[in-house]
Amino acid sequence: MQKGCKMSNNIIFKTIKTYNHPYVYDRHTNSLVRLTDDEYQELLKVEKLELKSEESGVIKKYQEFGLFHPNTVEKIENNQALLIEQYLKSRLTQLTLQVTQQCNLRCKYCAFSGIYENNRIHSANRMTLDIARRSIDFFLERVRERSDITIGFYGGEPLLEFDLIKQCVEYIRGHVEGKQIKYTLTTNGTLMPDDVIDFLVENDFLLNISLDGSKTEHDASRQFANGEGTFDTIIENIKKIGEKHPEYKRKIQIMTTINPHMDLGCVLEYFKADDAFATNSILFNPMSEANLKERPNYDVNYFRVRNYEYIKALFYMIGKVEQKYISPLSRSVVGLTERKSKQLSEHFALPSTTSHGGACKIGVRRLFVRVDGSLFPCERVNETLDYFMIGTIDAGFDIDKISKIFNIGKLTADECKNCWALRFCVICAGQIECENEPSRANKLVECTKSLNQSLFSLYELCVLKEFGYSTEGR
Ligand code: SF4
Ligand code: SF4
Repeated sequence: MQKGCKMSNNIIFKTIKTYNHPYVYDRHTNSLVRLTDDEYQELLKVEKLELKSEESGVIKKYQEFGLFHPNTVEKIENNQALLIEQYLKSRLTQLTLQVTQQCNLRCKYCAFSGIYENNRIHSANRMTLDIARRSIDFFLERVRERSDITIGFYGGEPLLEFDLIKQCVEYIRGHVEGKQIKYTLTTNGTLMPDDVIDFLVENDFLLNISLDGSKTEHDASRQFANGEGTFDTIIENIKKIGEKHPEYKRKIQIMTTINPHMDLGCVLEYFKADDAFATNSILFNPMSEANLKERPNYDVNYFRVRNYEYIKALFYMIGKVEQKYISPLSRSVVGLTERKSKQLSEHFALPSTTSHGGACKIGVRRLFVRVDGSLFPCERVNETLDYFMIGTIDAGFDIDKISKIFNIGKLTADECKNCWALRFCVICAGQIECENEPSRANKLVECTKSLNQSLFSLYELCVLKEFGYSTEGR
């Protein structure tokens, strides 16, 4: 009875107890209901198989209100997989070109630094103009039903290939009519002479610059190949953009990677105190831990800061703290809780064929093209694994492979069918550790994490609601 609480007639639920009250979550109706202590004790017995569900008076009582009806998921299959072939023909959304696998920095936590098992490392491989043009053609042939498209440039450090980026933009301009085009660039911010800045501004690029807080925190890991820190260069470049194009500077998105080399408290202080970033969106992302050769060693201080920021976010959600006190680090907590709360207000019946969430519209949402013209679902998956290669610009999409990635849920089909968390669970194939491809054993590791996360989210929502949390009006 670990994954789900499959009762004798497929009544699937999960009991939860906060300090103040007991609750039950009913999978079939996606409902969270407060219980009396006696009701909770009886449902606990059903969960532990000490009492048959058909003999439970509590279940009988709530069945009259529409809860606890038997529901059977016959098959674990992602319903979207049936539509994907159609979408891949005419509804692609975003193309990201890996213009180079080289970088002028050697950041300590870089995905391409060799600290990850089975991942590529920095190399001199670059995209040729021919492959770039053919990738763009491949994409444009499949956007018929979209009025707006996004084209991004990625590396290594994409600005090492500034001439190629310029040629691509020129080519796109000459080949797209009647569509809104957005360009995006993710850069380390060190290669930005005036002509690069002017070009990005003229073409209204959505610019993502990596900056890990103050000089000390940033330079601790984001370094040039000779070991020198990059903070001063980046700040100089951002200042230059601000002086020449103040409106554009406001739109730059700052990307901060949470990593064990930084003091997270100092990073938050820096962004709070420095007016230069007052209007910029600052996005915090933890460094990925999947396939890391050694677990990252975060110190006590890191957890203290995280917890403090998390508690402030909770206080904000129950109206005890103003929004201005919420750091960018915990904004995602607020957003996630809102989404979970809204999700719990949707009471549609669970289809008999379904799957857990997590697989985006593979290839449709963020098609990533490697330097050699191979296709991948996005820039985050391990591009050295054949499993994730979903085609090439010459051969087209490999629908069987896409379907397999889409249907990662099938690896744990038996567990998922009876899992109380099926509606909450979000697992993407890219986050599962693996050598060649995700196995059932690898998947079960993520499954346990997801199950714990779902339980924690429900518990958190119950507690918040006890203190007056509501998404109404938000
Ligand atoms: S700038 Fe990005 S690609 Fe380059 S070393 Fe740093 S993290 Fe890696
Ligand atoms: S993968 Fe998700 S839905 Fe399936 S058993 Fe695990 S936690 Fe439940």
